[in-house]
Amino acid sequence: MIVVMKVGAGDEAVRAVEAAVKQAGLKPRVIRGSVQTVVAAIGEKRGPVREMLETLDGVADVVPIQSPYKLACREVHPEPTVIEVGPLKLGDGNFGVIAGPCSIESEEQMVETARAVKSAGAAALRGGAFKPRTSPYAFQGLHEDGLKILAVARAETGLPVVTELLAEHDVELVSRYADVLQIGARNMQNYRLLEVAGATGKTILLKRGAAATLEELLLAAEYILNAGNPNVILCERGIRTFESHTRFTLPTASVDYLHQRTHLPIVVDPSHAAGYASLVPSSALAAIAAGADGLIIEVHPNPSKAWCDGAQSLDFPRFAELMGRCRRVADAVGKCWIPPIV
Ligand code: PEP
Ligand code: MN
Repeated sequence: MIVVMKVGAGDEAVRAVEAAVKQAGLKPRVIRGSVQTVVAAIGEKRGPVREMLETLDGVADVVPIQSPYKLACREVHPEPTVIEVGPLKLGDGNFGVIAGPCSIESEEQMVETARAVKSAGAAALRGGAFKPRTSPYAFQGLHEDGLKILAVARAETGLPVVTELLAEHDVELVSRYADVLQIGARNMQNYRLLEVAGATGKTILLKRGAAATLEELLLAAEYILNAGNPNVILCERGIRTFESHTRFTLPTASVDYLHQRTHLPIVVDPSHAAGYASLVPSSALAAIAAGADGLIIEVHPNPSKAWCDGAQSLDFPRFAELMGRCRRVADAVGKCWIPPIV
């Protein structure tokens, strides 16, 4: 249920509604909009709760939430959420790029990449220290040594760092270094991991599972929001189809569909979707035109030598060239590129 407060209802009335919601065995979440405040009452309702809430001071209306994702939906939270982590600002017209290698290999590789992507206009650095590899014999990441390298690259450039949290038992370690915790496609429906990651309060970049519906993605985001963490970025990274000319298939309509249903910002990962460097730029440009709030792109100093995902990684000149083109499309669709060009 959503308890819609009257315009100008005071804090005391909101607190009384919160208390009544708790009393009824539901979880209250106060959402303050620019005009009105609403209190979402989350959980299984028992008895005539709606009638009781309607009688409280300052309450304009009590309406059921139709959407299954109660906290992620626009019904409860009509205004877009803006996520800000240092220079990375996504949502409500703000656009940012996260870039870096698939995996952290060395300090030199990370610092060099961080400098290059920053000067090309990226707002955050990506790089995995824990890699979810299809084969157990493939490079699994540098683990804590990688996280330490990430910290050096952040200190050198001021870029916030995005890195994957692969397992519950690494949550304390990874959150000590990460500015944004990435939950990868393979873990999108690892609900316990979502709760544990959510409880850190860190911003979470939640990638769509390769075989997950958008409703499943939104319900996965709901686990993080329900853990009390409002800082969630959704990521469309392509889905598995019968088509094999790309690694995955990028449904650009996801961006609009998600924007219609959720207030959370949406970034697109053209690298994992396309799977080939030559196909990354067109997917990136299409994603911006489709309304994405940001991009996450794999960049490597020497893609042919990358330890992971080299085929889809852009080298520095290709990335810088793409950023120039992306800016023009972002301008055309009225997005504000952050950080601004100086
Ligand atoms: C990654 O970002 O390197 C990654 C493994 O992505 P995904 O979870 O989308 O496959
Ligand atoms: Mn990768």
